[in-house]
Amino acid sequence: MDDRFKIPVEQLTEDEAKGELHRLATLIAEYDKAYFEFDAPIVDDATYDQVRLRHKAIEARFPSLVSPDSPSRRVGSKASTRFAKVRHLYPMLSLDNAFKQEDISEFLARTRRFLGLDAETVIPLIAEPKIDGVSCSLRYERGKLVKGATRGDGIEGEDVTENVKTIQDIPHSIPTSFDVLEIRGEVYLMHKAFQMLNQQREKEGEALFANPRNAAAGSLRQLDPGVTASRPLKFFAYSLGETPKSFGTHESVLNQLKKWGFPVSTLIESCSAINEIMTYHARLESLRADLGFDIDGTVYKINRLDWQERLGFVSRAPRWAIAHKFPAEQAQTTLRQISIQVGRTGVLTPVAHLDPVTVGGVVVSRATLHNEDELRRKDIRIGDTVMIQRAGDVIPQVVKVITLEGQARQAPFQFPLKCPVCDSIVERKEGEAARRCTGGLICQAQASLRLRHFVSREAFDIEGLGTKHIETFFNLGVIRNPVDIFTFEQRNKNSSHPLKMWEGWGEKSAENLFSAINQKRIISLDRFIYALGIYQIGQTSARLLARHYGSYEVWIQAMTAAARAGTGTGTIIATAEDASSLEDLVNIDGIGPGMAEDLLCFFREPHNLDLLAQLVGPQIKVSDFKSAISRSSPIAGRTVVFTGTLTTLTRAEAKARAESLGAKVSTSVSSKTDYVITGNDAGSKAAKARELGVTILGEKEWLALLGEA
Ligand SMILES: [Zn+2]
Repeated sequence: MDDRFKIPVEQLTEDEAKGELHRLATLIAEYDKAYFEFDAPIVDDATYDQVRLRHKAIEARFPSLVSPDSPSRRVGSKASTRFAKVRHLYPMLSLDNAFKQEDISEFLARTRRFLGLDAETVIPLIAEPKIDGVSCSLRYERGKLVKGATRGDGIEGEDVTENVKTIQDIPHSIPTSFDVLEIRGEVYLMHKAFQMLNQQREKEGEALFANPRNAAAGSLRQLDPGVTASRPLKFFAYSLGETPKSFGTHESVLNQLKKWGFPVSTLIESCSAINEIMTYHARLESLRADLGFDIDGTVYKINRLDWQERLGFVSRAPRWAIAHKFPAEQAQTTLRQISIQVGRTGVLTPVAHLDPVTVGGVVVSRATLHNEDELRRKDIRIGDTVMIQRAGDVIPQVVKVITLEGQARQAPFQFPLKCPVCDSIVERKEGEAARRCTGGLICQAQASLRLRHFVSREAFDIEGLGTKHIETFFNLGVIRNPVDIFTFEQRNKNSSHPLKMWEGWGEKSAENLFSAINQKRIISLDRFIYALGIYQIGQTSARLLARHYGSYEVWIQAMTAAARAGTGTGTIIATAEDASSLEDLVNIDGIGPGMAEDLLCFFREPHNLDLLAQLVGPQIKVSDFKSAISRSSPIAGRTVVFTGTLTTLTRAEAKARAESLGAKVSTSVSSKTDYVITGNDAGSKAAKARELGVTILGEKEWLALLGEA
């Protein structure tokens, strides 16, 4: 185990936990971006999994610190823009990971608790090899293959229909009476095919694929299906998008997939007791080297579909399945140089440049060193011989320094005290492992990236104002902040050297750019909040806030009031109303005190308020949030609080159900609460509800309201 995380999760204070969660979330975001958007992972799977696991463990211990943007709530990254988008009928989620026997036991125990099973009840599982390929969804209508899509972010993938049609393992039609079926499986490449492909590429002077998974992904995501057809891609089917109830078990699904003509792994077996499970896993690992294709672990799925349905999903992963990963691979090499990268949030990350070395078949020359603490703890110095580690397909981490007899060492690496990009002071907040550049908008690494975020597809979505242009305009001082984008045309008109005269620009292209900007002068509240790039406030939390406050005016008023009530400068006298705004914000389920504080930090900065005042009104209009949740649900948009012990379903089930029907689940009762649902032993919350005149429902009445009694 990596010694980076020196404080055991159970010993973290809430403050430390908050800092760690920030740091880990930032890391995960960087890893995901490199992996999903640039096909160029910067850490190995083991590190990635470890970071995610620790993040999850901290969240589990401090549920109030879980942010709606938490990496635990999303899968992967947005699909690349080169292909048309396909919305999956049912989300394609990823699996939680396990590494040790205890993790599997915990999975079984959790399942037992959730379903309310006693210790004697057998939980039948299906164990399958976890193929290290590209997840793919195939849509059949009346038995005809009509659509093939990659997983993408789990909600939306890339349309690769023509490409999957070239894969021999995938039938173009299947004998079925179902109108619509989604077949899920993994596209992969055999080791032999991978080697031949790379030999071919070497001959033609093309870049080599790092591993079979990357080669499969690259082959599937070809704009020319002819190229895909020339690569011997293979396919294993393992599930249906939504499984008709008539199947009863996952096993019968697999049998049906076989009958339809899909390849299904022959290594799949049923098991239930923990010793059976561990035996299967060990056997699979011993077979691993001879399979001819990559697997990276075992997947266990609960066999009973009715149990799967009850267990449902946590936002990122199903509760009825878990992936049991194989351990990582290691190698030694020399560390030649350490460089410092500055991220969008200003975080300084040390990067190790290594003598290229092959680890598990992949040539590796760079590794992230995470942060200053890690560097110091491991005492990693330039020139050292280091042990590096990777599991799947990405650039590894430096595990430790190998001390060689008689090897002279250089002085310890000095972490810079000034930002290498803008020369601003680098600070380190208490409880955070990361050093950050304080330059903010004046730091080119941050400002241009913040501007890029501001105009990105999920934010203002200004077409024609891409990375390259933002970078140029920023460097020339034409666009330094969001307001500048919208005043550009006016300033340009009065300029002695207008844009149309610039190299690479003309009358038409300049006009197009200004028109693209002008088209985006109205933006919905959720997108606007997201565009501001406030630390920790991503799309999900922006949407939560927008749904809660509805309009820009209400939001701003509530934020400035809450900022006065929070732990601000102390010179401002907060009113009782301010305090209630703060309480209201913190009580939004999914926001919590940690995230609220980051949000309010933004509102305590006078220069941010100036920016908003110059932007909203003079330049742009922010439209009210329109909820996309079905209005037919009787609880859509209502705020509910659960209290006491429910009898027919667990609290987790009840909360997930309410949210899926569009309700806002709050943790405490206020005058803004619509319903308080009381189980057995309901205590002070029920009393408070009575006091405030909030509608109180028993469990039966609640289910009746949902039409489920
Ligand atoms: Zn800087």
